[in-house]
Amino acid sequence: MDDYNSSTVYFRCNICDFLFQEDPERFPVKCFQCGSENVSRA
Ligand SMILES: [Zn+2]
Repeated sequence: MDDYNSSTVYFRCNICDFLFQEDPERFPVKCFQCGSENVSRA
């Protein structure tokens, strides 16, 4: 187990196409720009 919480990955919003980094264990992942949960891993 590794509790060091620094492993972020890229996600892309399916609504506004914004690309951002977020921790994949943090659900739901929301777009920082429009607030949608409709995002995919990039
Ligand atoms: Zn968005």
